[in-house]
Amino acid sequence: MNAMKRMTFLLVFGMLGCGGGNDDGDDPVVVAGTVETEPTGSAKPATTWVPADPANYVSAGDRGIEYVVIHTIEGTVADAIAVFQNPATQKSAHYVVGYDGAVTQMVQDKDVAWHAGEFNAASIGIEHEGYANANNWTTAEYVKSAELTRWLCLTYAIPMDREHILGHSEAPGATHGDPGIYFDWVYYLALVKQENAVPSVPYKAMEVTASVLNVRTGPSTSFSIIGTVQNGQRYVAVAESGGWYRIYYKGNLGWSYGGYLTQKYNVTGIIVTADLLNVRSGPGTSYSIVGTVAKGERYVVISISNGWKRIWWGGQERWVYGSYTEDFTM
Ligand SMILES: [Zn+2]
Repeated sequence: MNAMKRMTFLLVFGMLGCGGGNDDGDDPVVVAGTVETEPTGSAKPATTWVPADPANYVSAGDRGIEYVVIHTIEGTVADAIAVFQNPATQKSAHYVVGYDGAVTQMVQDKDVAWHAGEFNAASIGIEHEGYANANNWTTAEYVKSAELTRWLCLTYAIPMDREHILGHSEAPGATHGDPGIYFDWVYYLALVKQENAVPSVPYKAMEVTASVLNVRTGPSTSFSIIGTVQNGQRYVAVAESGGWYRIYYKGNLGWSYGGYLTQKYNVTGIIVTADLLNVRSGPGTSYSIVGTVAKGERYVVISISNGWKRIWWGGQERWVYGSYTEDFTM
């Protein structure tokens, strides 16, 4: 039960650090002989307590919290508060984050909010101001939400990965599409983990101007080379740091030097919508599988044939079935 003891202590420290008197109504039980310090960077962002109507959630005792579910409100913070305070809606979430980064707590962590069907019992729900089909995400919203998620992960021993931090659309039986294709999971997870969290630039189509250009694990020549791209090929850049661009390369992300990349406009890209999609050597299932791409990855489209899309992938021209992708324009 070491994990339980540790959790209890984190809760104690978390509450001391908060100062608002507005959160998690758990009465922490201090276990004698267990001394742990709060992990670095685990402070809970300041929250405003605006309770949901008690008809919209279940008061729970000791529950295991294993997931954080990310939502969009499909409206404003005020809209979310109105819905969660209306006893007729049967809806709630624990937190609501605004464009300005302000965090409202509406249900205590220990209680079961109604936001993600089967996942309600074991999850914390975070609503975000905005819409699943619009790219209105602000940096303040990403940063404060990620601070909150980081604190939740450290406090409740939730792994900081996409298995445990997921979108409403990814919860079992979900019929909702939020947080939508514009939510930048790469950036968000980097913020949560406090790893090289470079603010994302709007997605850019970058064309290679060198004959051969290295792709590396980080934004300088001191990082190792994971492959190369060639003159004329185009890749989707998701971030920029010190003159280097982070691109979707081959089922993963890599960095290339921006001195040999030039931005192109009105370029069509695809976003992968299947969990995992085969990449083939030609436009049909009779062609061999050369690899896979995962949900949310983005590639530039070269051409389309019978519903198959030819993309630049890892320095090669390869094909994916178009029905499991969505187009976007850079
Ligand atoms: Zn939702």
